[in-house]
Amino acid sequence: MRSFIFDHMEQHDYENLFFCQEKSLGLKAIFAIHDTTLGPAGGGIRMWTYDTEADAINDALRLARGMTYKWAAAGANLGGGKCVIIGDPQRDKTEGLFRALGRFMHRLGGLFLAGPDVGTNLRDLEIMRMETPYVVIVPESWGGPGDPSPATAFGVIRAMQACLKETYGSPDLQGRTVAVQGVGSVGEHAVALLVEAGAIVTIADIERERAEHIAAQYNVKLTHPAEIHSLPVDVYCPCALGAVLNDQTLPELHCEIVCGSANNQLAEDRHGDLLAQRGILYAPDYIVNAGGAIFGIDSLNPGGFNRQRAMDSVSRIYEAVEKVLTLAKEQKVPTYRAADLLAEQRIAMARQVKSLRTKSD
Ligand code: NAD
Repeated sequence: MRSFIFDHMEQHDYENLFFCQEKSLGLKAIFAIHDTTLGPAGGGIRMWTYDTEADAINDALRLARGMTYKWAAAGANLGGGKCVIIGDPQRDKTEGLFRALGRFMHRLGGLFLAGPDVGTNLRDLEIMRMETPYVVIVPESWGGPGDPSPATAFGVIRAMQACLKETYGSPDLQGRTVAVQGVGSVGEHAVALLVEAGAIVTIADIERERAEHIAAQYNVKLTHPAEIHSLPVDVYCPCALGAVLNDQTLPELHCEIVCGSANNQLAEDRHGDLLAQRGILYAPDYIVNAGGAIFGIDSLNPGGFNRQRAMDSVSRIYEAVEKVLTLAKEQKVPTYRAADLLAEQRIAMARQVKSLRTKSD
């Protein structure tokens, strides 16, 4: 039997794929659950104008698997999942659509815990929350964590400090040169923290006016977006788009460390191998940028969200990066591979623990 969906699910061992539709409300959505060994699947809700159904399924599956690794490596007790809504976030959002999605999600009984992602925001999740408590990332006014970007930026800084310790023997940012690519939600907060810690910062953003405003506000240098990755700095900090480490940019890098929030920075895995060969320390993106997610899931604690505890958890990204760097050295593998190994080891450990019988079994 030829099968597109099951072949795909078997390839990386996905647990479930759920399809939801409600014609009268214009809802078409897919929930992908990758691996729930560590706990319920946690992931964002993405809304996007996919060209084909296959593109939407592929995106949901790919992103769900990415979440399994992110949570596992971050030390969180969550599995990997993702929800994608097929639709235009500029045109197709309605209260009915999000409430219907909330209802479908509620039927999963807590198998999937949701936050925002590309194309959705806290307002959309607030609407879903009317139908299900399994939407965990809600605004501060609802007792939730609110905007995760400052926590993501803090996680980036903690990861950077671990890389500096490895490279220079000290995590101190004072006097270190950092090139920040993209000063959007995360990038701007990262710049603020870097400046506060005494780093010498250069920024670039394709939105020229925004970049100029931020350069003036924080008194940092500004350069052209086409040059930011090639500056001779201690740290190149990509906080814009993915695939910035590719065949064209790699020969142009003049940094010691790459550590930023952008998702999927390596255009292909082999670019991670090439960085290691060049002696550039690459901090794996999904560990570096886990801060917002770690911050958000603090609301799962029985007493509800606690900002200080959440930030303490984000701070431990420092130790997570240290572990990856140690494993990379022990196993003589590039850091991106070490991050995957760390995640896989933790899931294997949890499987082993679960297999032990307890008195009540
Ligand atoms: P954002 O859209 O607020 O900011 C991105 C910024 O990058 C914008 O100002 C944009 O103009 C700029 N930009 C785009 N292309 C550029 C280029 N070629 N050169 C220079 N600047 C460019 O997004 P964000 O929320 O700050 O997220 C930044 C990255 O971090 C994304 O890859 C995102 O997926 C990832 N991330 C964000 C979070 C979070 O908490 N927001 C969490 C995890 C990962």
